Amino acid sequence: MPPLLTIAQARAAVAAAVELLPTDRVPVADALGRVLAEPVVAAHDVPPFANAAMDGYAVHAGPRGRTLKVVGESRAGAPAPAATDLEDGEAIRISTGAALPAGADAVLQVERVSVDGDRVTLDDDVAPGRNVRLPGEDLHAGATVLGPGIRLGPAELGVAVTAGRGELEVGRRPRVTVVATGDELVAPGAQLAPGQIHDSNAITLAALARRAGAEVAPTGRAADTREAVEATLAAALDEADVLVVSGGVSVGPHDHVKPALQALGVEQRFWRVALRPGKPTWFGTRGRRLVFGLPGNPVSSMVTFHLFARPALLALQGAPYASGPLRTARLTEAVPRSPERDEAVRVRLAGGADGSLTATPTGPQGSHVLTSMLGADGLALVEAGEGELAAGTTVTVELF
Ligand code: AMP
Ligand code: MG
Repeated sequence: MPPLLTIAQARAAVAAAVELLPTDRVPVADALGRVLAEPVVAAHDVPPFANAAMDGYAVHAGPRGRTLKVVGESRAGAPAPAATDLEDGEAIRISTGAALPAGADAVLQVERVSVDGDRVTLDDDVAPGRNVRLPGEDLHAGATVLGPGIRLGPAELGVAVTAGRGELEVGRRPRVTVVATGDELVAPGAQLAPGQIHDSNAITLAALARRAGAEVAPTGRAADTREAVEATLAAALDEADVLVVSGGVSVGPHDHVKPALQALGVEQRFWRVALRPGKPTWFGTRGRRLVFGLPGNPVSSMVTFHLFARPALLALQGAPYASGPLRTARLTEAVPRSPERDEAVRVRLAGGADGSLTATPTGPQGSHVLTSMLGADGLALVEAGEGELAAGTTVTVELF
């Protein structure tokens, strides 16, 4: 038996095997969750022109009490005609976001003026720049505002649009095929005969892959024979950038995944990690294709996907190969430790009164207890050791 890898060693092995996929150019409207493959540089100042921060009157700065003649209007999207150069004694009605007319250097909000026909009296002193948003206050033309490798969320998309972009260069979505192995498996919703269970892993693993930006092919299911496993994996390997196999990677007489992959030319990079749940995790490559053999226990498959496969899917698209966001939190109850393996305890986080976080295990932590994933915010990584971690101990939590 090979020695168990640490989580960090296993992650390093996966990271080393990742080869960047080519890029796609997509409309910003389709870029949510994609990984940016180029810098985004502001094509112009944002805002592009001086404009009003309030509804009111564009004026020259000056003391209160002045009565001005209203000589025009500047509306959002419809500036006052260029010829309207504001003279002393004049004001222009202006709406929020409308261009500041030439000659004006301030806006007095409508609540601070008294209107009488086409005259307004200013009820306030007006300093230069009052209620004026200057060009470039958000972004200066030429500034690099987003860089390659970031995952595009709603704010990034919005900023790219304000910077002038309609399309973005992003990493291609990895094509993922999930294959669930096991004679006991039947499709979701099917009637269970004695000894059968529903194949939940195919659904959870495909969902996790989609969430990591992958395109997921329809799932294959293979019976526990060498022929069935090899035939299903052979077909999947031809299509996929990443093959995720569930089950059949342990040491039982019906575990055919490893020899089948070997026969198909997939080179083993590692097998077995000092992790609970998830010890039998297998990883290999064929060319630039990545193959994850994840243990069949439903929690193990989700945990190992999260720790090893998810970062790979993002890295294929150009993001750094990295753990999920990390938090430190205090355990609210004692957690038994495993003598030889680090334990990934599913926890719920809550904010303590002092602003610090607490982590509460989600209940029984058996690798078959899939409900322990419900409501979990992440995995508390509890190092191998004797005894237990006492309540109150600070642990690192890797968020999902
Ligand atoms: P294995 O890794 O094939 O030895 O399976 C370990 C455990 O996970 C067994 O109890 C299996 O019945 C269960 N299991 C395997 N595959 C799945 C699956 N696709 N969905 C739900 N449970 C599974
Ligand atoms: Mg099995």
